[in-house]
Amino acid sequence: MKQDKIIFFDTTLRDGEQSPGASMNFQEKLLVAKQLETLGVDVIEAGFPISSPGDFESVKAIAKAVKKSSVAGLARASEKDIKAAWDAVKYAKKPRIHIFLATSDLHIEKKLQKTRAQILEMAVKAVKYGKSLCKDIEFSAEDAGRSDMDFLCKVVEAVINAGASTVNIPDTVGYTMPAEFGAKIAEIKKRVPNINKAIISVHCHNDLGLAVANSLSAIENGARQVECTINGIGERAGNASLEEIAMAIKVRPHYYNVGHNINTKEIYKTSKLVSSLTGVAVQVNKAVVGANAFAHESGIHQDGVLKSRETYEIMNPADVGVPESSLVLGKHSGRHALFNRIKSLGYKLESKALEQIFEKFKVLADKKKVIFDDDIVALIEEDAASEKEIFSLVYQSATSGTATIPTATVRITDNNKKDKVLQEAACGVGPVDATYRAIDKITKMDIKLTDFSLKAVSSGVDALGEVFLKAKHKGMIFSGKGTSTDIVEASAKAYMQAINKAKAFDKKK
Ligand SMILES: [Zn+2]
Repeated sequence: MKQDKIIFFDTTLRDGEQSPGASMNFQEKLLVAKQLETLGVDVIEAGFPISSPGDFESVKAIAKAVKKSSVAGLARASEKDIKAAWDAVKYAKKPRIHIFLATSDLHIEKKLQKTRAQILEMAVKAVKYGKSLCKDIEFSAEDAGRSDMDFLCKVVEAVINAGASTVNIPDTVGYTMPAEFGAKIAEIKKRVPNINKAIISVHCHNDLGLAVANSLSAIENGARQVECTINGIGERAGNASLEEIAMAIKVRPHYYNVGHNINTKEIYKTSKLVSSLTGVAVQVNKAVVGANAFAHESGIHQDGVLKSRETYEIMNPADVGVPESSLVLGKHSGRHALFNRIKSLGYKLESKALEQIFEKFKVLADKKKVIFDDDIVALIEEDAASEKEIFSLVYQSATSGTATIPTATVRITDNNKKDKVLQEAACGVGPVDATYRAIDKITKMDIKLTDFSLKAVSSGVDALGEVFLKAKHKGMIFSGKGTSTDIVEASAKAYMQAINKAKAFDKKK
């Protein structure tokens, strides 16, 4: 039997961008679209062209830039909307117009103030008009999850006759249960006589945390297109997450017996890009792309994974583009995990020395929740931690404002050069960036920030800000922490701490 392929329709740039605080500018949208193409997304919903001139322009630019994926523009069931969508997507190699109209009585009566008969007529008219412009037409029956099945089947049949090649069945408000939603798809497949002329699509929302489960249930029942977003961002609780559906199909090939075009090795990179551009962080325990998705802390789990990955990992982190699974070292970690990390840090120690370090490690882990690479280095090079810092920040000042270019001045003493005082200034995108650039000019360390977080450790406007960061140097991660009521100062302290640790490591080695 020939294996079916699931069409991945990504709506990160439309539904995802609609989520609170997730808006992206023109350039950012273009970057995401190019990455979605690299990821292997079949259809990119680039935006809602009639909604604003900015949206129109970005859909148009994406249509011009993307070559492999289809580019869709959203439209309500009106000529004006459909014409605008076409004017924006027509530049695409594979353009698609996505027309939506509500089919639930609640939406028909309360929102649109129409009758079912009027809705049926509007849907057919819109699809026919769309088809006169574009050969690829998708029709969405908005709020299908709560629509009357007889009426929904009637609408689906009519729009297919009018020329729709994809019929989307959205659970717009995330109301349905997986088995129930799957049964709806099966019923549509059974009852709509011309259903074989179109692809059944689903668009599930996550209000009850079931968007992915509902999408997978729909696939089991014959849906062949899923609408989803990167990191599951979207209206309210979000949409079905692309990475979870793609990996479920990949991890359980015999269960689903379908394929897809997603290059899963690009998932992690895409997730990072979308979260950094939208500012919507990925929760640490998020499936597939969360920071802890491949982190094991329990000693038994760590020991198992080191012996054979499959013991506690159902996916290979490399398959989603995560370089390696991170074994978080903490009080539950055993010898095996610690010794492995010591080895990977480049140390060759005798077993007696290893045992001594393990004892010290256990004591430290009782006090500190997570043990980083630099903590281990400190244990090995016992005096490294207590040693006098090499670079000391003696002066720091930064200016910023709406009409000024963020500028910073720092003065640092180099204890290697008999406390010689060095001074530098730099500009940056913000006061912290400017400060870091000024510090870099003096310390000349090959160090790259990988993580930066700022939190208030007390309340009120005079709260202490605590900056915690991680930076990479020669393949190792060094952490830094700084506290101050001035966040720029806290940031500078944290950065200096990481630099000093890295410098001490270089010296010792
Ligand atoms: Zn939606």
